[in-house]
Amino acid sequence: AQEFIEKSFHQLNLHKKKQSTKDAIIQEEIIDGLNRNEFRTFFQPKVFIREKQIEFEALIRWFHPEKGLIPPDKFIPISEKSFVIHNLTKKVLKDAVDFSQKTNTKVSVNISPVVFQNPNFSKEIRKILNTREIAELIVLEITEGIALDNFKVAVNKMKDLNKIGVEFSIDDFGIGYSSLSYLEKLPIAELKIDKLFVRNIHTDKINPLIIDFVIKVGKISGFKVIAEGVETKDHIKTLTSLGCHNFQGYYFDKPQSADIIYEKYSSYFYH
Ligand code: C2E
Ligand code: CA
Ligand code: CA
Ligand code: CA
Repeated sequence: AQEFIEKSFHQLNLHKKKQSTKDAIIQEEIIDGLNRNEFRTFFQPKVFIREKQIEFEALIRWFHPEKGLIPPDKFIPISEKSFVIHNLTKKVLKDAVDFSQKTNTKVSVNISPVVFQNPNFSKEIRKILNTREIAELIVLEITEGIALDNFKVAVNKMKDLNKIGVEFSIDDFGIGYSSLSYLEKLPIAELKIDKLFVRNIHTDKINPLIIDFVIKVGKISGFKVIAEGVETKDHIKTLTSLGCHNFQGYYFDKPQSADIIYEKYSSYFYH
């Protein structure tokens, strides 16, 4: 048995070594790609029906010269294992600032837990969002688990950025494990219902209950609630009947380049 265990460990280590070499290669490719301008920030509308307002979420894309379009799920997790995620985040944040200033519209940027947890996080963000005018148009989407290991530090970071006008949104809400008492103590402006709940809203008996619950939490706590992954009229009907009036998804529009958005939404931006 001893021998078997040792052999298994050896193989596991070999596997890990191979994996980390692979990761390192991709991380280097990402850095090269950033230098060669292969990454593009796309924007997707977040629609607030009752307010007749739209905001946008910034979503990164990699246009690889040989491999073509690479979606973020394929490179964000690997970039998160090194400093590379910080470079990517800075790029998206700068593009988001550009877009929001040009259109006078709020833009959300996704912040990975490792980026948020960096001790210099709020300092780095304040470097880019260096005036109140700029900061007030930026929303940072973080996930529920972000404040679990050091609640105080997390809240202080958020408050620090709140002070200059940055808002926070809790992304993928419902699939994590945060307690409500914890949620109430965080300085957040918005909850995003994960698309998983929306997709199965008509087939799953529990999902409408969860959505109903999240909407009630939002009302009581004063958070906006927005559903993501809204694809059909039926989704909208059901969500509306549950009291959700804010939507993001293919039903309205897919993520697209800034130039296409400027053109498509010009009457909204420049009326
Ligand atoms: P997310 O933050 O939950 O973003 C929503 C995802 O749902 C996006 O996928 C978006 O294109 C997609 N989506 C929008 N509407 C619909 C719909 O109606 N139906 C369906 N099925 N999907 C819809 P995308 O752009 O591929 O991004 C995937 C994930 O990658 C994001 O999930 C986010 O976690 C991460 N990501 C994207 N850009 C960034 C970034 O700049 N920084 C970081 N840290 N993560 C990013
Ligand atoms: Ca998001
Ligand atoms: Ca996410
Ligand atoms: Ca999500």
